[in-house]
Amino acid sequence: MGNVSTLLSDVLGGHRLTANEAELLLNVHGAEILAITAAADELRERRVGDTVTYVRNQNLHVTNICKNLCGFCGFGRKVTDEGAYCHDKAGIQLQAKLAYERKVTEICLLSGVHPGFTLDTFIDLIHWVHEAAPGVHVHAFSPDEVAHAAQRGGCSTSEVLVRLKEEGLGTIQGTAAEILVDSVREVICPRKVPTADWVRIIKEAHGIGLRSTATIMYGSYETAADQIEHLGILRNIQDETHGFTELVTLPYVHTNTPLYQQGIARAGPTGREDLLMIAVSRLFLDNFSSIQVAWGKVGLKMTQIALLSGANDLAGTMFTDDVSGDAGASGSDYLDPKDMERIVRDLGRRLRQRTTLYELV
Ligand code: SF4
Repeated sequence: MGNVSTLLSDVLGGHRLTANEAELLLNVHGAEILAITAAADELRERRVGDTVTYVRNQNLHVTNICKNLCGFCGFGRKVTDEGAYCHDKAGIQLQAKLAYERKVTEICLLSGVHPGFTLDTFIDLIHWVHEAAPGVHVHAFSPDEVAHAAQRGGCSTSEVLVRLKEEGLGTIQGTAAEILVDSVREVICPRKVPTADWVRIIKEAHGIGLRSTATIMYGSYETAADQIEHLGILRNIQDETHGFTELVTLPYVHTNTPLYQQGIARAGPTGREDLLMIAVSRLFLDNFSSIQVAWGKVGLKMTQIALLSGANDLAGTMFTDDVSGDAGASGSDYLDPKDMERIVRDLGRRLRQRTTLYELV
């Protein structure tokens, strides 16, 4: 306990964790886990108080056809695969109208990186959504999609970002990060942008006032050292730009994914790893206000415990999530705010609806 308890009291006293120290915490296996989650809970309380937030949002599926076919993904398809689809304007607007009627404040585009998509396709998507759901915040496009649009259009990623912002994009997605360590990316997502490009594109977005989420997809092939290297990259970017709205922790859903089926990845994180990812993120990322738990991937009961371990945000209502569902998650589609209220109130905390940019509604 010695090392861990000294470290935790140092952090609570204002010490910024080093990568080695954070890795040590991630590697704890016994009862000290509870001391780590308690320290993270205290920091959460100091940083954001008792309020637990969520956004009323809906995922809008564009296509599952994808040039990347990452080994950890059960959603992406080749164009010739059974079940491959690509929605047209009518299909997109039908989903957007439904979201509008559900009074969402955010529509999140969930999509494969279709090899035929260009910057113009992305601009059309933004316009179609805004036509069908006026005033709704569009949260879309990862650095990998931005790089794809730039490459197809023969322009720079900065130019793509500027155009997307001009055409009404609200925030970009901090997805396609997975684990920002190239030796891991070569195994789990070899066709996605390398770490340096991801970092550059996110900084370009933040530089023009397009904020983003930050994400980590953990529990597949990477080590604890890789996870901390990843979080260290996010912390450095946040020091520089302050452009991340939150950290979204995404446990690997393994069941229907090639990496797991081929025996390369493990069967996702354990409950210990889920809690420590939340807690150590809270302790290590001293420049992030919000640490989000993915209820659709860890389940509602683990979500509640994560709220005692440093998390303060429940993400969105979602209404549909084929990315998690196709990978083998169940109960990942919709969480009614009444059910959020139940688990939050049960902890003596307060639930508040927020916008994508964390203004309380
Ligand atoms: S994770 Fe995204 S980029 Fe990778 S195959 Fe799935 S949909 Fe495509």
